[in-house]
Amino acid sequence: MVKKEKSASIKLLPRPPVVTVMGHIDHGKTSLLDSIRQTNVVDQEFGGITQHIGAYQVEVALPGTPEKRKITFIDTPGHEAFTKMRARGASVTDIVVLVVAADDGVMPQTKEAIEHTRAANVPMIVAINKIDLKTARPKTVREQLVKAGVLLEDFGGDVPVVEVSAKEQKGIKDLLEMILLVAEMIDLKANFHGSFKGVVIESRLDVQKGPLATVLVKEGMLRTGDEVYVGAQKLKVKAMFDDQQRRVSKATPSTPVEVLGFSSVPPTGSVITGKKTTKVGKPLVKKRRAIKTRTVNLIIRADTEGTKEAVIDSLKNIPLKEAKVEVLLAGTGDVSKSDIFLAKASKAIVVGFNVGVLPTVVKLAETEGVEIKLYKLIYELLEDLEKGLKEMLTPKVTEELVGRGEIIAQFRGTEARIAGVKVTFGSLKLGEAVRLVRNGKVVGKAKIATMRHLKEDIKVAKKGQECGLTFDLPLDFKIKDVVECYRTGK
Ligand code: GDP
Repeated sequence: MVKKEKSASIKLLPRPPVVTVMGHIDHGKTSLLDSIRQTNVVDQEFGGITQHIGAYQVEVALPGTPEKRKITFIDTPGHEAFTKMRARGASVTDIVVLVVAADDGVMPQTKEAIEHTRAANVPMIVAINKIDLKTARPKTVREQLVKAGVLLEDFGGDVPVVEVSAKEQKGIKDLLEMILLVAEMIDLKANFHGSFKGVVIESRLDVQKGPLATVLVKEGMLRTGDEVYVGAQKLKVKAMFDDQQRRVSKATPSTPVEVLGFSSVPPTGSVITGKKTTKVGKPLVKKRRAIKTRTVNLIIRADTEGTKEAVIDSLKNIPLKEAKVEVLLAGTGDVSKSDIFLAKASKAIVVGFNVGVLPTVVKLAETEGVEIKLYKLIYELLEDLEKGLKEMLTPKVTEELVGRGEIIAQFRGTEARIAGVKVTFGSLKLGEAVRLVRNGKVVGKAKIATMRHLKEDIKVAKKGQECGLTFDLPLDFKIKDVVECYRTGK
């Protein structure tokens, strides 16, 4: 019996895909999300209530079957929210729908959305919107996308394209079915019965209800009455509401629920767990290690397309074989907030050429610990990079001086010579590394093997104290030599 329960607890079950809609401004992201919601809310009866909680679910029949499947849509379109979550180590998106207006084609933010999706390694579906317009040119849009590096299915790649009209609600069913097909291929599963993990995708302070947060369940289940943690802070789930403001008692993976019970408004991207966690920023540790593989990630912002291309071209000529420069995103215009989030998520440096940075963006970069470097000339960037890369390639060893002492006497011991030392700075410690310094030059290195004060074995000798030392290696010390105790770091 116990065994059966155990095996059930690790069984992974299919979960709905979580979809984010991205694309250029005015291409119809919001309209598409509204249109999908209006025509497909899980329960039509409640369809009228359109309370925005940051995400909603729809239910669609899997093509060719009567089987209904759910899809979760993140209701905040655009790549800023998407990248912000990634920066927090709280990625939730499984599939990106890239909206491109059929009359306008690929625009700067379309390209950015493509870059952000690529950086996150998330599958994409293209929705060519506004197909109802007389000026719609879907064929041209396809060609532009291919030129922008999107490997469309029609061109032998694996990115599906669906033509839609959010306004006339055309092609919506096809788009939803396509999402389900892509979801089938990536085989999304979660442990419904293991420990709970969720992500705050939206939060606000409600005058009546107090702090509210929409939590998207990633693993396990969230139930009313559960005690969960945001970092080390504990909270008890007082009540939960679904995307149509219906009270629910439990939420399973990929389900968004508005949760009541927070003592303060948690920031978006906060990870909620069933267990107390004090460790934060795990993904960053991984990214830092990645830097050791000698890749410098860059996000480039330039005033013109010409400058941008020139910068990218010149980066190819950096004469360092052991290191690699990777451009995660290159665009024109000022440095944006989403650039900072992408930089944080990918441990990248933001470089700008003749562009500005708004004070709010500077502040964000400071709080997120992201470096922004502004240049007027390309060679200045190249010089900086070469210098930086060289530094990265030479392992940095810093030595911290822990203590210093002068040899004021020497004695003959049974096994080795003993140095009589007076500590003049910090402290000397048994077992630590020391160097022998004569006239300002290091003449030998060893470790402190024994340390005595009068006849007693000691472990530390502090400033002002005298002690007798022997070393683990033969050191040819003389009176007046200096012994320095140091620690190496990187
Ligand atoms: P967003 O900035 O990407 O969220 O774009 P919106 O959803 O706000 O849409 C921008 C404009 O395009 C609005 O005026 C919409 O009414 C219009 N629009 C959106 N979808 C369609 C569509 O399918 N056909 C037409 N003709 N107009 C659309």
